[in-house]
Amino acid sequence: MGFEYDDQNIFAKILRGEIPNDTVFENDHALAFRDITPQAPSHVLVIPKGPYVSLDHFTQEASEGELAGFLRAVGEVCRLEGVSEDGFRAISNAGVHGVQEVPHLHVHIIGGRPLGRMLARET
Ligand code: 5GP
Repeated sequence: MGFEYDDQNIFAKILRGEIPNDTVFENDHALAFRDITPQAPSHVLVIPKGPYVSLDHFTQEASEGELAGFLRAVGEVCRLEGVSEDGFRAISNAGVHGVQEVPHLHVHIIGGRPLGRMLARET
């Protein structure tokens, strides 16, 4: 499957500095910033600096350096946010079924309170 990246998406604009963000961590390959609508005391988005739509796209086309830099940024955010001990949830929504709002890969790191079940159970 081919992936088409829209460079007008809001996270692309954040990466270009066109829209401000509350940065938590940055390295050569990733940027982490606070979600504008936090769903828990700690809610940070980690995004790769490259033009990738989803985790699927990223893992197919990113270099080893990009893969490592991104995943290490996720770990750094957990430590900086202080959620490593009590726990957190890492979520990456993709596509229509995943209800992905912004078409640039992002992992939500959510913590700071008990989060309940991952998904509501269907009856
Ligand atoms: P998705 O539904 O695509 O997994 O999540 C997109 C997330 O991006 C949402 O949690 C939303 O609150 C967040 N978001 C949307 N626009 C902005 C923005 O301009 N700045 C920041 N920091 N977060 C945003």
